[in-house]
Amino acid sequence: MTVHGCFNVNLFRRRNTAAAAAADPNPVRDAKTPSAEPRDVEAYYPCAWSSRSTKAVDQPPPYSGASGLPKEIGETIKATVLEYSDKLTEISRWIWQHPELGYAEVGAHKRLTDLLESEGFEVERGYKDLPTAFRAVYKHGSGGRTFAFCSEYDALPGIGHACGHNLIAVAGVAGLLGMRAAMRKYGMDGTAVLIGTPAEEGGMGKAVLLDRGGFLGIDACMMVHPVGDYAGVAPGTACVIPTLAVVELGIEFFGRPAHAGVAPWEGVNALDAVHLAYGSISALRQQLHPTDKVHGIITHGGKAPNIIPDYAAMKYFIRAKTANDVEALVAKVQACFDGAATATECKVKYDVAPMTYDLRNNGPFCDEFAAAVSALWNRRTWIALDNWDNAGGSTDFGNVCYAMPACHPQFGIPAEPGRGNHTPQFTEKCGTAKAHEYTFEFAAGMCAVGAQFLANKDFADKAIKWWKEDMKGAAV
Ligand SMILES: [Zn+2]
Ligand SMILES: [Zn+2]
Repeated sequence: MTVHGCFNVNLFRRRNTAAAAAADPNPVRDAKTPSAEPRDVEAYYPCAWSSRSTKAVDQPPPYSGASGLPKEIGETIKATVLEYSDKLTEISRWIWQHPELGYAEVGAHKRLTDLLESEGFEVERGYKDLPTAFRAVYKHGSGGRTFAFCSEYDALPGIGHACGHNLIAVAGVAGLLGMRAAMRKYGMDGTAVLIGTPAEEGGMGKAVLLDRGGFLGIDACMMVHPVGDYAGVAPGTACVIPTLAVVELGIEFFGRPAHAGVAPWEGVNALDAVHLAYGSISALRQQLHPTDKVHGIITHGGKAPNIIPDYAAMKYFIRAKTANDVEALVAKVQACFDGAATATECKVKYDVAPMTYDLRNNGPFCDEFAAAVSALWNRRTWIALDNWDNAGGSTDFGNVCYAMPACHPQFGIPAEPGRGNHTPQFTEKCGTAKAHEYTFEFAAGMCAVGAQFLANKDFADKAIKWWKEDMKGAAV
């Protein structure tokens, strides 16, 4: 399901308008890419905590959490995730063996919600009138903050779970189980939520849920995503890097048919408009920033060579660093289509899908995640929030980042060189024992951030403040 609308500025409206008063600019960080599994090396590369100095650390810091989450809470989360790992692996493998496309994830939805119900969570199936969405909730005490995890479970056409969403599905469940255990044991007031979000691979499930109020009442959110041979992230390490904002543009040209041999002068050639627009955009590309991506296809080019095409159509993806940048780029690209229509005397019509926003990972969450996975599992995290070298893709979790403090670390699983996400070889890797082992480790790290957010008001305030400052630069 793609929700299309007319081409106007309202389509670019922000779901968040809380561009709050801000003090400091965003921290800018960078670090080197981890090159090997951290358990196999003695000297670690600089990452989260060390990226602020030039000195590499050779031992992970003791687990205090970047902002002080007590060690025993982390250990409770770790033990809980391990306790459930066999059960969760079984569900992940079922999802992996039965790939379902976006908005048709019926089997995955059933297995995940069955488990959550059997574990005693309050579960809403078919959440917000999306049949394969769900929400599971655990409340403890009275009041407190609300932290959510997102699960994904849709597959890709023809190549199954080539993006590892079977792993993301159970990572979210592991996060919720870990949170409940910690909240119960240490009397942490607040609410932990798991949102089952369908159709990430086209369909923008999270954007639809946001529009329908599916994230209302949630203060912050996280998910983790597996990657292979991507961004230089070695198996067993994580990275937190941005992804691009993107909008899908449909373009139709309307002309007039005529006999192409007998009376071509009577025709208005819509295919010529496509040809000119394609060429104009190719010329425009030379003037674009490396992070601007404009790529399209011709979906209709006429019916027969002896009929002047009266109708032709194209589809383009327009990506850039931020939602604002996409808007500016769309205007330039649109000029190419308008110009082609003028030159050929065609009429042009646009359809634009809701925007997928850029991924704006929350700085304090990144630090806490890195500290947690280091202390719990001796795993390294590369935090590079302004590194755009590998930011060619996009995710609908970007829209969540515009609505609240949020974070989307990616963790490496074993993969063949050049055969990462969206390849059949990666599908194979997403069913392996090693992929599951890493999934639970990084899910526990994600859970530790959530626990810290509930337990520590200073940390939560810091994350919220960071987000507000960040959004000041991002929102229109
Ligand atoms: Zn994908
Ligand atoms: Zn994915």
